Amino acid sequence: MKRRELLKGSLMAGVLGLLPKGVAQGAPQNTPYLGRRYRNLIVFVYDGFSWEDYAIAQAYARRRQGRVLALERLLVRYPNGLVNTYSLTSYVTESSAAANAMSCGVKTVNGGLAIHVDGTPLKPFFAAAKEAGKAVGLVTTTTVTHATPAGFAVSNPDRNAEERIAEQYLDFGAEVYLGGGDRFFNPEKRQDKKDLYAAFAQAGYGVVRSLEDLLRTNASKLLGVFSESHLPYEVDRRFQGVKAPSLKEMVQAALPRLASYRPGFVLQVEAGRIDHANHINDPSAVLWDVLAADETLEVLTAFVDQHPDTLLLLVSDHATGVGGLYGAGRSYLESSMGIDLLDGQRASFEQMRRLLGNSPDTPQVKEAYRTLKGVTLADEEAERVVRALRERVYWPEGVRQGVQPENTMAWAMVQRNAAKPDRPNIGYSSGQHTASPVVLALYGQGLRLVNLGLVDNTHVFRLMGEALGIRYQNPTMSEEEALEILKARPKGMRHPEDVWA
Ligand SMILES: [Zn+2]
Repeated sequence: MKRRELLKGSLMAGVLGLLPKGVAQGAPQNTPYLGRRYRNLIVFVYDGFSWEDYAIAQAYARRRQGRVLALERLLVRYPNGLVNTYSLTSYVTESSAAANAMSCGVKTVNGGLAIHVDGTPLKPFFAAAKEAGKAVGLVTTTTVTHATPAGFAVSNPDRNAEERIAEQYLDFGAEVYLGGGDRFFNPEKRQDKKDLYAAFAQAGYGVVRSLEDLLRTNASKLLGVFSESHLPYEVDRRFQGVKAPSLKEMVQAALPRLASYRPGFVLQVEAGRIDHANHINDPSAVLWDVLAADETLEVLTAFVDQHPDTLLLLVSDHATGVGGLYGAGRSYLESSMGIDLLDGQRASFEQMRRLLGNSPDTPQVKEAYRTLKGVTLADEEAERVVRALRERVYWPEGVRQGVQPENTMAWAMVQRNAAKPDRPNIGYSSGQHTASPVVLALYGQGLRLVNLGLVDNTHVFRLMGEALGIRYQNPTMSEEEALEILKARPKGMRHPEDVWA
């Protein structure tokens, strides 16, 4: 049989249901349990965080900072495991389907928040916790209305409907919202000109727009929106003077407020831009956002130590980009150079693009790489960046890695000397999400688990429910049902999986 016929045969078998096609069906299920209840729950989501990101941050902390990551200590001493992340209809999830699995306990199609693709709404866990009397906090480095925080609180068929999600937040009434996304609250920027800041103030929130305001306010309920869109990458906040509160500073503002609620609280903290940094294949932006998450983790574990009725659950929602530190040199002895060379990287590609504008010339590009990335580009490499910024001609040719022109900027400085790297030997083959299992870890008193094993992301919902004694079941949907509905959609309608973030 020719290859083509073989392929046709296997496609037919798939259509006839002869091949196993469900992504979830038949998988063995490990069901971990906690064995005790807690009053407070903190869910710390590392968005788009892979084990490669972990390895690089661990190496950087040890080698360049002479310290051990808080996350490394956590993984060594406390229960942890791996999470399968696939969505209902794809081995590769995005953040809303991943958030839904964790917050609703069921698999969904990529793209909607706490909802099935036929429009059946699901109850997110923080909504149930609120009904049970818990205070609620959402703290993130992305827009505060972004998929990962939103999927824990509200239901919406479109994760990108962030103006609407901002209004849903007002109705939902969490005690603390901190993050970015001015354009979804500001009357001058919203399509409908509604002043959501005024509406939140009227509802009793202290509305703050800068770190200074955040530190000064004594409001018990908080809406803090600190940037037009997402908060800056940590590498730019730290070394380029881009102003915004750090994730740690936001968490330090949220914790005492939430802790003052007698029935307890649920808080989601999201290190949301690890994902974005991986989308743009930017190793230094990834590194510093992981290190900023680690500083935040120190604050959270210290809080748990002082409040032993609190469970901290740390989880990644999926891996993105997956830029690994590659072996280099004889016996791989030069590999660590990649870690040392990261020290010369003092800005993200997002910031470099902002500084270069849309019409830089080759010398300007070379100078920017030299000063901001510690990399000397060859002329032809710099010219690729010029063409990407001026003409939107991207490289490698025809490949849309995820986010352009940043991906071309990243690929321009790919390591070329496998024997002795003079650029970080951290490589990416795409800017998209991947199917890799990701980290899950717990921190709290009285945990009797040693190993969580390999679990499904829907088990995060069960662990949270057990922790707080909140149990309910959302309706499930089969993959076949979901695919039928997607197939029947009118042409031209945006497919919910046409999102990358
Ligand atoms: Zn993403």
